[in-house]
Amino acid sequence: MAVIISGKEVSAKVRAEVKEACEQLKAKGVNPGLAVIIVGDDPASRVYVNNKKKACAEVGFLSEEYALPAETTQEELLELIDRLNKREDIDGILCQLPLPKHLDEKAVINAISPLKDVDAFHPSNVGKIMIGDYDFLPCTPAGVMEMIHFAGIEVSGKNCVVIGRSNIVGKPMAMLLLHENGTVTICHSRTKNLKEVCSAADILVAAVGKPKFVKADMVKEGAVVLDVGINRDENGKLCGDVDFAEVEPKAAYITPVPGGVGPMTIAMLMKNTLKAAQNRA
Ligand code: NDP
Repeated sequence: MAVIISGKEVSAKVRAEVKEACEQLKAKGVNPGLAVIIVGDDPASRVYVNNKKKACAEVGFLSEEYALPAETTQEELLELIDRLNKREDIDGILCQLPLPKHLDEKAVINAISPLKDVDAFHPSNVGKIMIGDYDFLPCTPAGVMEMIHFAGIEVSGKNCVVIGRSNIVGKPMAMLLLHENGTVTICHSRTKNLKEVCSAADILVAAVGKPKFVKADMVKEGAVVLDVGINRDENGKLCGDVDFAEVEPKAAYITPVPGGVGPMTIAMLMKNTLKAAQNRA
């Protein structure tokens, strides 16, 4: 039986800390503000944006939503970002991805001021993550690290395996584990001996985007298993990249889906916005 690390519990703790720090900032006359841009009507993006707004209200941030039509032009979007970059009362700017196909995501990410880039997607912030000298933590990987710390798990010297090498999850996840002295392997779709590599992991992070991809025979007895995936199973039910029913009896620690890494990502976004406001103060 594994210990279940609850993202609901850990994220509530992070949000409570942010709320307290926000009150202190407000007493000094600084009110943290987050602007969220959503283009088009993707239902998943709408859910994420609503959750972000709810989290802002809970911790006491000003939040502004810019819901733009799907046919918004690149120029219009960049113009809005430019205006928000110049606003004193907006500390964080987030453009919900993915964007409609005709918009250039890279140009949009580059247009957000690195000082307000609370998603930590701007190349300048990505570079800082690599160096280990960051203003903003990459939200999802930082959320995973927060869960590891909460559970009292030591990373130093551990064999860590990350499945997935995306810019927003896999790569920064590997960096954060490396910064804590883990011995890190990154796996991807061309990895030949995936089962062998994964079953040697003391700490296994799954960020694949495939429902129930990680089976019991890929996990070492007593491993720490962190599931970043958000997928739908064959019955349309929310599930992770890890086959929870199979893996849980074998693991020492595991994160569930839902109620695992998902809520952590938003809590870490709040933490980054607070950091931006503290920098302004
Ligand atoms: P991407 O699709 O960008 O990356 C998936 C990665 O998995 C790629 O590196 C890919 O390899 C690798 N992969 C795919 N198939 C295999 C395979 N058979 N064997 C080994 N590796 C494989 O996804 P993201 O990183 O954006 O997201 C991953 C998951 O995390 C998704 O379910 C997503 O919904 C979820 N997510 C959850 C968040 C949260 O808040 N909890 C936030 C962000 C994402 P290759 O590079 O070779 O193609």
